[in-house]
Amino acid sequence: MSQVAMARATTSKDPDAERLHRKQRLAAAFRLFSKFGFDEGVAGHITARDPERLDHFWVNPLGMHFGHIRVSDLICVNRDGKVVEGDAMVNTAAFVIHSNVHEARPDVVAAAHAHSIYGKSWSAMGRLLDPITQDVCAFYEDHAVFDDYTGVVLDLEEGKRIAHAVGDNKAAILRNHGLLTVGHSVDEAAWWFITMERSCQAQLLASSAGTPVLIDPEMARTTREQVGSHSAGWFSFQPLFDRIVREQPDLLD
Ligand SMILES: [Zn+2]
Repeated sequence: MSQVAMARATTSKDPDAERLHRKQRLAAAFRLFSKFGFDEGVAGHITARDPERLDHFWVNPLGMHFGHIRVSDLICVNRDGKVVEGDAMVNTAAFVIHSNVHEARPDVVAAAHAHSIYGKSWSAMGRLLDPITQDVCAFYEDHAVFDDYTGVVLDLEEGKRIAHAVGDNKAAILRNHGLLTVGHSVDEAAWWFITMERSCQAQLLASSAGTPVLIDPEMARTTREQVGSHSAGWFSFQPLFDRIVREQPDLLD
């Protein structure tokens, strides 16, 4: 990691400071998702695990536009789906999917899901992304397809099956639904979502123009080690965080 990256790494052992840090990154991620047009009505959620109560997570209030979310608007949900901090309802699908992912993956701090246009379009193919660009190699042998669409996710058992499909990967394509990404930080999960959405766009564009040339497996793995690490994902988010905070400083309120 570069010195600039080290200076920005504010992960703290003080749980109050770490909680605030995660909530600030979360509010910024929502503003960025709005800026990129990932919202679709009330669909979509990004969660951050609480640093002390490890079976609780912070999430967006149901029905508030991503583009309006401030740190003080975020709500905290316990393992039973009850809102224990904040005055709003949680999206049932958010609880069902994210509680299972956070439980199945103790290493995961954050998870992101939205009904973004290219992600859901590609998801209809029901297959993995191909290694056609340097950027998409971040996901090479590190994403899965959840190939079992059964309507809006309201059932905890389905949440478990989605978490099982994610497995040890950084992302899953939920067939006929959209993308789901995870990370060791909010920054990383949000970045994987943003770049995966653009990778879906790139594959849709390239494959509509002709037959893309694939990067060979060995080179795709090497590239994944370069662009797909936890620190690379975290670092890629930093300029976006700086940009959105400068443009929309009220997100930190
Ligand atoms: Zn959804």
